[in-house]
Amino acid sequence: MLFPPASCPRLIVKIGSALLVDPDGAVRREWLTGVAADIAARRREGQEVAVVSSGAIALGARRLGLAKGGRASLEDAQAAAAAGQIVLSQVWADVLGAEALTAAQMLVTLDDLEHRRRYLNAAATLDRLLSLGVVPIINENDSVATEEIRFGDNDRLAARIAQAAAAGGVILLSDIDGLYDRNPALPGARHIARVDRIDAGIEAMADTGSASGMGSGGMVSKIAAARIANAAGAHLAIASGRIDRPLSTEARHTLFAAEKGASARKAWLAGGLTAKGRLRIDAGAAKALRGGASLLAAGVTAAEGDFVRGDILDIADPDGRVIARGLSEYPTADAAAILGLGREAQEAALGYAPRAAMVHRDHMVLL
Ligand code: GLU
Repeated sequence: MLFPPASCPRLIVKIGSALLVDPDGAVRREWLTGVAADIAARRREGQEVAVVSSGAIALGARRLGLAKGGRASLEDAQAAAAAGQIVLSQVWADVLGAEALTAAQMLVTLDDLEHRRRYLNAAATLDRLLSLGVVPIINENDSVATEEIRFGDNDRLAARIAQAAAAGGVILLSDIDGLYDRNPALPGARHIARVDRIDAGIEAMADTGSASGMGSGGMVSKIAAARIANAAGAHLAIASGRIDRPLSTEARHTLFAAEKGASARKAWLAGGLTAKGRLRIDAGAAKALRGGASLLAAGVTAAEGDFVRGDILDIADPDGRVIARGLSEYPTADAAAILGLGREAQEAALGYAPRAAMVHRDHMVLL
């Protein structure tokens, strides 16, 4: 099995438009029923699965009678997405419901994942949904995203979601079973089974444009997605969805291996970004952090600097040594108000339900 639960506790599956929608615009319900059964089987084995589902534009275009699959203009695409997304969500709710799974819709924009505060919100929601046993169904919020601030393809969106969710694997289900050394329609095209490093040679192999013409992601956006996922510590596979039960059937695919030592957290926290503030913590908290725990307000002795939720903070031990770095769950004033407090006292000090931690371990890196 590709990315089995034991080695990959959290998986992101991206499904391209051509797999979800027939050329005549009808939903491929039977195939999706099989995918839902695969997801249910993986969940039973303890794997958390989130789906990035395309298909809104393709579905909506049929219903609105729009030319060129709804992609003649941005306005058409946005209207098609609005009409299609509601159908798409219902289909997912139906097929997952038949497996006794709850679906949850998350529509995100590029900005939601680029801005640290909103990134934290999206990550927290994803995390909570997955821990509740729900299957998040994610798509770009195409009906409001404008050209300059759009992902435009769900391949890169899936990779960014993997980063936000600290997933170990991403499967891009496509109408092709992976990367070929040249256009697969050409004679002698050779399938590439594994890529350990995405170099210029690999980039050159990517052909532009998808075979179906229905989605917007071709091999170029898949390679871009692999770069993002691999840098965030997630493996990425391009696999064919042109088979039944694609998440439980062994089939040819291309694996892009994660960069060694990379992790979603490090990817976010690295890059020479300077901290906006500093939290001083007690010895007990320092020990807990080294053991992999989140930083709770109870163990924080001082909050220095001027920061907002989502800013990067240095975390210093009682000797003043910076031992970790992470994204703050609170602005300065709120962090200062709850120093050293337990959960109940925090609620009284803040006047709202406190967050699970001052810095969550998923958004922290030990130095
Ligand atoms: N978000 C688009 C949709 O739902 C698909 C983007 C893509 O083709 O990757 O129709």
